[in-house]
Amino acid sequence: MKAMMLKGPNRPFELVQVPDPVAGPGEAVARILSCGSGLTIQHIKAGRIAATFPLIIGHEITAEIVQVGAGVTAVREGDAVTSYYYLNCGHCRWCYANLEPLCERSGGNVGVTCNGGYAEYIKLPAHVFVRFPGGLDYKAHPAECGVIMDALATPYKVLRRARVTAGDTVAVIGAGGGLGIHQVMMAKWAHARVIAVDTARDKLDACRKAGADAVVDASDGRTAQALLDLTGGRGVDVIIDYVSSTSTLEAGAQALGRRGRLVTLGGSGKPFTVSSLDLMLKEGELLGSRYVTRPEIVETLELVARREVWPLVTEIRRLEHAEAVHEKVERGEVIGRAALLIN
Ligand SMILES: [Zn+2]
Repeated sequence: MKAMMLKGPNRPFELVQVPDPVAGPGEAVARILSCGSGLTIQHIKAGRIAATFPLIIGHEITAEIVQVGAGVTAVREGDAVTSYYYLNCGHCRWCYANLEPLCERSGGNVGVTCNGGYAEYIKLPAHVFVRFPGGLDYKAHPAECGVIMDALATPYKVLRRARVTAGDTVAVIGAGGGLGIHQVMMAKWAHARVIAVDTARDKLDACRKAGADAVVDASDGRTAQALLDLTGGRGVDVIIDYVSSTSTLEAGAQALGRRGRLVTLGGSGKPFTVSSLDLMLKEGELLGSRYVTRPEIVETLELVARREVWPLVTEIRRLEHAEAVHEKVERGEVIGRAALLIN
């Protein structure tokens, strides 16, 4: 099969021919129609996330099962599927509790510890595939359907993690990024008032188009004050920080209202300072949110099938153009998501 191979960190893609994968016991092989090109996999390509090379990256797939190994009942030939990102064990207390991202014996991630979606076929443990619901027109929209399992499902999960309810004010930091702009859309879907925070004019314009009620240009370093001004001094109910640098987390903590929730989705991992007195007086909460569960993917797929939300994929190219697409992703020039068409 044809594949876009990375032979090491921070190296260009190489279009290569490799043997077609064969499904062993418990595994399935799917033919890939499309694969999303998000920032996470650019981090892998650039060497900022550790991985074993040579490697085929990519996990936001639209695919069809073409082969199942012995003992597989989870999927059948012909099933339309996407992928789960984690190679979770399925048998630890967290997997049993439907909290698979917290798996104690995770085998890593699709496209990181095993080959991913930048190829004509993908082989995975069968339980890692997630079937598309009926009514999702994946053949007409393979790029959009492929990115749902991350770009849209992650923001959907954050709504629950932060207990967003109708009427809440939600600020999204890094709102112009691939996940951030979908968070803006999902928070509007949840009937929140949404404030988009970013540093680039064109990204803030895109956030307004995606439904943001107000925008804050963070480039002057006065984000906390701007958020307080936009809430009449009360502070924000939920702040979702997709940048999660020391300065954005501290600005978020300062702009939090009473009973406010500040959600981090990772970032640099550097420490930040919060006033414990302020946190106590406001009964504030600091929360981490890590990817999604399978049910949350299914629910997000169903939202899209019903057209309640729709993924924003603005850059759709052939697999052969992966390098050019990743250069744009690295420079932060893609609005929403990019995706590659394969078969
Ligand atoms: Zn587990």
